[in-house]
Formats: sequence, C-alpha cells, structure tokens
Amino acid sequence: MSTIHLKKTAVPSYVARYSKPEHTRSCYTCGTCNSACPVNAATSRLRPLELVYKAKLGLLDELLSIPDIWYCIGCNRCSNLCPMMVEPLSLIQNLRAEAILRKIVRPEVPERHKELLKGLLRGLWHAADALLGGEHPDVAEHWDQWTRKSPFGKTDRLIKLPTNTPQISAFRQMVRGYGVNTTSLSSCFTCRECSNACPICMDPSVFDPLKIFRLANFGLKDDLLRSPSIWLCLDCQSCMSACSQGVKGALIIRQLQHIAYKEGFVAKDFPVRWQELKGEVYGQFIREIDKLLEPVRPVKPPYLEQV
Ligand code: SF4
Ligand code: SF4
Ligand code: SF4
Ligand code: SF4
Repeated sequence: MSTIHLKKTAVPSYVARYSKPEHTRSCYTCGTCNSACPVNAATSRLRPLELVYKAKLGLLDELLSIPDIWYCIGCNRCSNLCPMMVEPLSLIQNLRAEAILRKIVRPEVPERHKELLKGLLRGLWHAADALLGGEHPDVAEHWDQWTRKSPFGKTDRLIKLPTNTPQISAFRQMVRGYGVNTTSLSSCFTCRECSNACPICMDPSVFDPLKIFRLANFGLKDDLLRSPSIWLCLDCQSCMSACSQGVKGALIIRQLQHIAYKEGFVAKDFPVRWQELKGEVYGQFIREIDKLLEPVRPVKPPYLEQV
C-alpha cells in the first residue's frame, strides 16, 4: 500500500507581505489618513500615517507590539481617502494576524476585541441617548452597564406607518435635498448589502443602516430625528459603495443629522457636546483595550538587538 505524503503548508507570513516596500512606499505623509480616522479625531491615540511609516522603515517587530493596531475600529476611512491608494487598514489587519500567529497577544484577545468593539458602539448609543435627553453622563461610571445592555427594548418596537401622505412626501423631499438628486430611497429593495458592508452594524438595535433608510422612505420623521443611532454613522460610505440601487446612504444620514439640528430636535450645542462626549467614550474604549493587552510581551525592535 502506498503512503500519501501530505505537502507541508507554508505558514502565511503577514509580515513578509508588508515588509515589501511597494505596499507602503507610495505614502508621501500627507496626513489625510490621520485626519480621516475617527479614533484619532476623538482621542489622538491612533495615527495610521505613523503605522504606515513604521512599516515603510521596516520596524515591523515594533509595530506588532504596540497597542495602536488594536485601537482601530476597521472603518476603512483611511484607505478610502488615501490619495496614493495605500491601505492602512489592510496593514493593521495583517499586523494583528501576525501578532496572533507569533503569540504576542493572548489567544483570547481577538474575541475579546470584537466584544469591546460591540461595547464601544453600545456605549456610543447610550451616550448619545443620554445627551439627547439633556444629560452629560460620566462615561467611566456607566461603561459596564452601557456595554452590556443592548438598547433592544427601546429601538425594536412596532412602528405605526404614517398616513399623512403630503407630510411623508415633504420629508422624503427634505432627505433627498442634500444636493444629491440621484438619491432614490424608494428604489431600495431591502437586500441588506448596505448593512453587511457597514463596519458599525454589529448590533442592529444599536445601528442598522437599512433600518434607517427604510424609516426615511416611510417618512417616519420623528422616530428618525429623535434616534441616537443617526449620530453614530462614521461617514465611511461603505453602504453607498455596496448599494446596487444607488441609494446614497451616508449622505442620507448626514442630511438627517442636519434636519434634526435645523428643526430643533437636538439642542443648539448638541454637535459640540456630542464631539466631547464621543471623545470620552472612545477614550474609555482605548483604556479597555490597554487593559486587555496587559501584559503585552515586549518585543525588542531589531535595531536595538545588538545594544
Ligand atoms: S493618506 Fe495615504 S499617502 Fe497620505 S499619509 Fe496616509 S497613507 Fe500616506
Ligand atoms: S480603519 Fe478607521 S479606525 Fe482604523 S486606522 Fe483606518 S480610519 Fe482609523
Ligand atoms: S444596499 Fe441599497 S438596495 Fe440594498 S438594502 Fe441597502 S439601500 Fe436598499
Ligand atoms: S457611512 Fe454607511 S457604512 Fe459607513 S458607518 Fe455610515 S451607514 Fe455605516
């Protein structure tokens, strides 16, 4: 009887992929990715440019040991907006995979990281809800309660469709009026591709783009404009790229925020206070990531090896 010899499979080397200079060499340090990053905007703790530059210099061992690669929330805004088509998010994903492969992080980190991301979104929802109700809550104090609690009961109730047709069409017109004539809410056939593509659609009771677009199409103005969810959108436009019907989801949500502000559904100082509170929620998320990564095994950067 002949023996079958299985071929040895090469261990994928994510670092080898990113040590190739062509992936990062076109970066000319314009800083667009830094400005586009919502985590950086809220906390100044994640600069994709720095990661790309370190990769360009070949400081890969150092990149694997820093917590920054776990601060990323995967929105892809950095890659979408990079004029040189560098993909900082792919770099981050590959670095994480390599850190897991080399056991630089504990095995439970990827799973716990996913839970923390979900927790961040719940935290943001509850923070926006509190702020809409006129409170400015202490984020650290509420964190555990917020992150464990899905707002399911508050957001998933039977919604009565409006019967006032002129009001519905007036609202649809308002939503469409953001200088985007092609926005065609009514052509949505609920395929859910937008929700699948959306990086923050992890708990539909917190944020679900399809649900927002359907509510807008049915003219449910009050439900939408009082909802904390519309303030969570990252404007990454992945929903728009995914939609075969040309529904301009990101622009619709921006328009909803604009109408909520203009029509007094939120206080005049809401945008400023929301930025502030959002920064506190992201700050707590960063602290939770730091706790999760302790103790990260320090990796000596190669240029210090001989010291
Ligand atoms: S946006 Fe692109 S080119 Fe500009 S700093 Fe970031 S990676 Fe480099
Ligand atoms: S994917 Fe988003 S969160 Fe991550 S680095 Fe890029 S812009 Fe920042
Ligand atoms: S991807 Fe477009 S058509 Fe599909 S559910 Fe979303 S908005 Fe509707
Ligand atoms: S722009 Fe679209 S895909 Fe991006 S966060 Fe907003 S709803 Fe989700």
